[in-house]
Amino acid sequence: MSSTRTTETNGAEPTYKRRRTQRSPSPQYKLDDDDTYEPYISVAQRKQAKLAKLTSWGAGSDKDKANKLKEEEEERQDEEREEERRKERARKERTLLMEAQEVHERKAVEDSKKTETEKAEEHDAEILAAIASRRKLASDLELAQGVQYTEPVKTSWRPPRFIRERTSEQHRRLREKYHIIVEGDDIPPPIENFTDMKVPEPLIKFLKSKRITKPTPIQLQGIPTAFAGRDMIGIAFTGSGKTLAFCLPLVMVALEEESKLPFVRGEGPVGVVLCPSRELATQTYENVLQWTASIAKEGKYPQLNTLLCIGGISMNDQSHVMNKGLHIVVATPGRLIDMLEKKRFTFDHCKYLCMDEADRMIDLGFEDDVRNIMSFFKHQRQTLLFSATMPRKIQDFAQLSLVKPILVNVGRAGAANLDVLQVVEYVKQEAKMVYLLECLQKTPPPVIIFSENKNEVDDIQEYLLLKGVEAVAIHGSKTQEERQYAIKSFKSGAKDVMVASSVASKGLDFNDIQHVIIFSMPKEIEDYVHQIGRTGRSGKTGIATTFVNMNTPEQTLLDLKYLLMEAGQKVPPFLTSIEDPRAAQGGSLTGCPVCGGLGHGISNCPKLEDTQRRQMASHRVSDDRGGY
Ligand code: AMP
Repeated sequence: MSSTRTTETNGAEPTYKRRRTQRSPSPQYKLDDDDTYEPYISVAQRKQAKLAKLTSWGAGSDKDKANKLKEEEEERQDEEREEERRKERARKERTLLMEAQEVHERKAVEDSKKTETEKAEEHDAEILAAIASRRKLASDLELAQGVQYTEPVKTSWRPPRFIRERTSEQHRRLREKYHIIVEGDDIPPPIENFTDMKVPEPLIKFLKSKRITKPTPIQLQGIPTAFAGRDMIGIAFTGSGKTLAFCLPLVMVALEEESKLPFVRGEGPVGVVLCPSRELATQTYENVLQWTASIAKEGKYPQLNTLLCIGGISMNDQSHVMNKGLHIVVATPGRLIDMLEKKRFTFDHCKYLCMDEADRMIDLGFEDDVRNIMSFFKHQRQTLLFSATMPRKIQDFAQLSLVKPILVNVGRAGAANLDVLQVVEYVKQEAKMVYLLECLQKTPPPVIIFSENKNEVDDIQEYLLLKGVEAVAIHGSKTQEERQYAIKSFKSGAKDVMVASSVASKGLDFNDIQHVIIFSMPKEIEDYVHQIGRTGRSGKTGIATTFVNMNTPEQTLLDLKYLLMEAGQKVPPFLTSIEDPRAAQGGSLTGCPVCGGLGHGISNCPKLEDTQRRQMASHRVSDDRGGY
């Protein structure tokens, strides 16, 4: 472009005139065509526009319709994805700390609304949940492989036809008659005599010679249950005949196996009975020996071989048994694990496991040993747990480990034997020894005196010997020989009095004990039940005298008070006057679900405390295995 400037001067400022000359044409910008910008249209508007188009098309082609629908679907999915992303962003912005704070604040508000009782109940529930979450009683291999048995073991035993034909109402009435409580599916019928149970004739004869003519309630229901191959939890008070109830089924299984194919060296056992103490194991072993010998006596049935497997004895003494096929093992956990680890025998064909005093086994330190023992089984086994006391929560735990178990309960678990007259006396600490002598006059011998403390056991024995009383003593620090001597001489009647710590209180069967004197009241009410259960056995009556004084914890006295009330015994005035603190707080008085004691709740259960203490100790002392 070019321009010529001309100047006009008439005294004014010069002006410039612009002159248009040829000018190249302005470029034509095609704004509309080249601009790719699209104004924002909201999703909702787009959707509406599409919908309008679709409806205006009316009968457009099917293909078009399908395309439109597809587009729509994609759009919807886009929207969903966008929504997800938005949520995710929001979630990330909320820190964990904020969440924790909110939970805390919410809990604080809820807590402020709760009463003390509700809080205590919640606390108890937490403890119970912790107990329930303990691992199942099964081998680590089974746990790892997730092996779970769902059907009970099969056996060839059937009740006689006339019993099978009875109605369930008839079974119920029979159970009611003998105060038997059962729980479980397809419960075998109760049977009122050994012949109908199909017990071998020679054994029936032998039992008769021991004045055992009719099954006791636990046998009446427990033996058919075990004969039928069912897993079982048997609860019966001490002296109710449970040893026969769990040994007889094992004897029958062993007889059947031996008859099919005789056992040779290195084979067996068919079953094992586990006991928490050497004494109890020895006693059970002696019973089994008698029963198996009586069965084989007439030559109609084969001889079964039984091994006692406990600490403190030389296993070489039983090499004559080990050199033959092995049918039954009666054991304490420690020595049994030792033998299994050394492969002195195996559980490759073991089908039957019974735990006597099973509650002790499970909850007092043997749990890991029992799990270890389980790991040696190669196949499903029939499992029986027997005890005089088994609180509900321990039962629940045990039930986890059994296959369709049947619970047979004869008398309330933990309730004391009603054949024992329970006398509780207030005796000052310093007067106990002298009063003990007076107390011994109440009945003729044999008498058992229990004390919680080993030194006290020794002191009492020494005092009695000085006073001319024929007394023996037994406690955990005595050697195996000393313990065996004490049991033998007391059982045979050579000695009149046995002074014992809780070792001897569990399960031991001494005949005709007239009087049990509890010199120091145990902290756990279950131990008291076991101790007084040494008398009043096999339907006979006995006396139990218990010394208490201001050293006895109030909670223990309260447990005792409730137990006496429950058993319909006389409650002395000093016990009656003890108030239950839970009643004052308006709390529930249902008793402790761990130990069964009625005088306290779970949060101050002495047994639970003791269990925890033992577990801590067992973590420290890893090599302390098996029978006391
Ligand atoms: P247990 O509860 O197994 O320790 O047995 C306690 C005592 O009861 C033992 O002395 C047995 O001999 C005895 N006993 C077992 N079964 C019977 C029965 N059916 N009738 C009478 N006494 C029995």
